[in-house]
Amino acid sequence: MKSIVIGSGFGGIAAALRLKAKNHDVTLIEKHPDLGGRARVFKRNGFTFDGGPTVITAPYLIEELFELFNKNPKDYIELTPLKTWYRFIFEDGKKFDYSGDEDQMKKQIKEINEEDVKGYEELVKFTKKIFDKGFTELADVPFDKPLIMMKQLPALLKLKSYKSVYSLVSSYIKNEKLRRMLSMHPLLVGGNPFTTTSIYGLILYLEKKWGIHYSMGGTGNIINGLEKLMNEVGIELIKGHEVTSIISSNNRIEGVKLANQKEINADNVICNADPPAVYEKLLTKKKFSTLFQWKQKRMEYSMGLFVYYFGTKKTYDNVEHHTIKFGDKYKEHLDDIFNKKKLNNDISYYLHRSSATDKSMAPKNHDCFYVLVPVPNNQSKIDWTVEGDKMKDLIIDKMEKALLPNLRKNIVEDFYLTPDYFENELNTKYGSGFSIQPKFTQSAYFRFHNKSEICKGLYFVGAGTHPGAGVPGVLSSAKVLDKII
Ligand SMILES: Cc1cc2nc3c(=O)[nH]c(=O)nc-3n(C[C@H](O)[C@H](O)[C@H](O)COP(=O)(O)OP(=O)(O)OC[C@H]3O[C@@H](n4cnc5c(N)ncnc54)[C@H](O)[C@@H]3O)c2cc1C
Repeated sequence: MKSIVIGSGFGGIAAALRLKAKNHDVTLIEKHPDLGGRARVFKRNGFTFDGGPTVITAPYLIEELFELFNKNPKDYIELTPLKTWYRFIFEDGKKFDYSGDEDQMKKQIKEINEEDVKGYEELVKFTKKIFDKGFTELADVPFDKPLIMMKQLPALLKLKSYKSVYSLVSSYIKNEKLRRMLSMHPLLVGGNPFTTTSIYGLILYLEKKWGIHYSMGGTGNIINGLEKLMNEVGIELIKGHEVTSIISSNNRIEGVKLANQKEINADNVICNADPPAVYEKLLTKKKFSTLFQWKQKRMEYSMGLFVYYFGTKKTYDNVEHHTIKFGDKYKEHLDDIFNKKKLNNDISYYLHRSSATDKSMAPKNHDCFYVLVPVPNNQSKIDWTVEGDKMKDLIIDKMEKALLPNLRKNIVEDFYLTPDYFENELNTKYGSGFSIQPKFTQSAYFRFHNKSEICKGLYFVGAGTHPGAGVPGVLSSAKVLDKII
């Protein structure tokens, strides 16, 4: 059986390996000369900048891929657990070190609001229930038939999946700072905590279950390890070639066509490329049913990302590996980004300092960072050639004040990516950072299906399909595939 995978994000690589383990003849085609998609690496003057994912959760999902071929993951990658998972900084300068140490967690919660300690314990218990259902039971179930969804609805309603994550957390926690902190997880997968279904509250528990890890050498090192494995097991890699169309006949997949006009035949085509963009641009000759066209039109997209990568000629030793800084008018800011699609100066950001754990990421006595700021996706029509430099200046000003003194004069290397990069380079619709939003009406059966309803032999893995974005999500989507091909 010949299978082609389009795209080399974590989801695409996992799909290629899983199909190879089932003896398929697998070819993976990637537009760029390097693999990884959102997890690509940018090397500049001795700095190694991981392009995207840095918080590694559920490491077993990565390790499984090596184990499929009886290989020891430790021969390829090195994952190390972090002690402090995130340092939260609030607008008044107060800090909270979030970790798996429950005593430390409760001690800090007590300092902010004593009565929330009990609520926190109850919240964790409830998120375990969501995790047991939403992750353990359903993350790798193929939601391609309405009946499968119908069967799950009573349980999902019992778990209050009609509520947003923020609203669920608020039913246990009184203090606003703690509410923000404990409900921020949807932002990690492209959702607004105020509208994302509380199913995603499972991430709070998922982190507790396996901890938060860092990949020594950067997340790019995992991609390198997986590339080595793919070469060893005989997966054909075609890099630096874009698929321009998917060929089908009589409602059956026949193969793909590349930008250089070459055609490759296959029994199955697995798209790791963004589903809405695939349906719109790679299947132009297909006629979709009215129902499917409605589904395409009604989708709401995740926010865009402004990611500023920078290296400094000094080290900021008191800055943690992962820092999350909330803006003052957090809710209004998210509303501007997700709904009004406009920029707002009161930014919240996530700062990644890889050299806090791994000195190899920067030259000696230097620090390697990226800062990620949620911004509107390209439905906003923002001209990033104009706004990009302004956004960079704003972020530097904010970070100088809050945690990196004299930053501007210490920067020796920098560049940034805007939603234009995600749209033009990674081929995502509207340059969204995480494909479609993780709302209830866009989850499971309501998301783009892993097994396409449009054409036989067409499948999807990655952020825009079930179960959704984030490294554990896209790796799980490849496990769904395992069950349907
Ligand atoms: C800045 C940032 C930080 C993040 N941080 C975290 C984190 O800390 N932890 C976490 O778990 N998740 C994180 N995420 C989310 C996570 O990175 C993504 O959800 C996940 O990596 C997406 O993987 P994917 O399999 O969907 O493929 P993608 O990474 O989206 O890759 C798709 C690939 O398809 C290729 N492609 C597209 N069209 C074509 C075509 N026509 N022909 C050939 N190739 C094509 C693209 O070039 C790309 O390489 C982050 C994301 C970003 C952007």
